[in-house]
Amino acid sequence: MLVIKGGHVLGVGIADVVVDGGVIVRIGVGLAAPEVIDASGLVVLPGFVDTHRHLVQAALRGSGADLPIDVYLSDVLPRNQSMSRSEVHASVLLGAVEALNAGVTTVLDWGHVGDPAVAFEALTASGIRALFGVYPDEVHRFASSAGLVTAAVSSLGPSMSFEDSARHIALARSLGLLTTMHVNGTGVVARMADLLGPDLHFVHGNKLTDEELRLLAAAGSGLTVTPVVESVMGHGVPAYGRFSAAGGAPALGVDVVINSSADMFEQMRAALWLERLGGNDLAAASLLVSASLDGARAIGLDGSIGSLSVGKRADIVLLDGFGHLPSDLVAGGIVATAGVSDVRTVLVDGRVVKRDGVMVDHDLAALRAAVGSVARKVLA
Ligand SMILES: [Zn+2]
Repeated sequence: MLVIKGGHVLGVGIADVVVDGGVIVRIGVGLAAPEVIDASGLVVLPGFVDTHRHLVQAALRGSGADLPIDVYLSDVLPRNQSMSRSEVHASVLLGAVEALNAGVTTVLDWGHVGDPAVAFEALTASGIRALFGVYPDEVHRFASSAGLVTAAVSSLGPSMSFEDSARHIALARSLGLLTTMHVNGTGVVARMADLLGPDLHFVHGNKLTDEELRLLAAAGSGLTVTPVVESVMGHGVPAYGRFSAAGGAPALGVDVVINSSADMFEQMRAALWLERLGGNDLAAASLLVSASLDGARAIGLDGSIGSLSVGKRADIVLLDGFGHLPSDLVAGGIVATAGVSDVRTVLVDGRVVKRDGVMVDHDLAALRAAVGSVARKVLA
């Protein structure tokens, strides 16, 4: 049992958070436990939920700054398959540890390079909570996983073949799993109207019509916007504001670090800037909800994570640099100005994975060195 003592608990004020058995059991003042984490001067917030990431691309970080999406799909993505088993393992592990370092405690990862068992093993070794998206023909191998890493069905999406997607969704439903899929064309969601439900999760959706976004929102299906990648690679204007206006609660994802940083701060900020530029006067603090509770909801995990609530799993971030603010300004201030260097301490399922700015179980520099030759090989 441990207590996070004297921090500014987001939405509560100065309080203590007691964690026992991986679960938040009490939030209040004057609480005690055998192990004490001093949070005075820090903000205590739920871990970030990144609902769309291709972690295997961690080894290729920064290689796609000028890469349009069509060239990426036709040219770069297929070459990922040249990665060896050990390279896939090292890349996914690096990506997951970079995520943890940035306070991302849950990620929905697409395991699409080589044997998915390799990425699954790397996710498990990292200590992150993950929904591991696996193609339908392989998903039975992971469907009963019940630890921190559990399975989802990855379907490329109805822009490829409606019949295929319908089959994938039926398979996922028979296994009780989420289906996650990329979607960017117009009309594809309308065609799927009868299949929609809260166990479907779509990514991008830049070209969906307002009516299609209303269908998604009404059905409780999730939509993840990846504002940095969509802006840089030419997907179109991110659908964040339009999905909100349609009654939905957009989630946020990093997608690929070939041209986005590995943290949710940049995603929140990009969405804020794009929406404000487009005339949407949304509150900055709302992006913090997108990056946590709405993310959890978009992938069906809001019953167990996404907020600091008694009974939920203890995925918690302690953030430096905002202890000086009145409480009503903290959440917006984090969205507008926080960065990875402010992430002091991170807990996943009640276990400390980053303490006082240092990763506990992994050496980031060594993980980066281990993939030092992968980019040049894959991109050659
Ligand atoms: Zn993607």
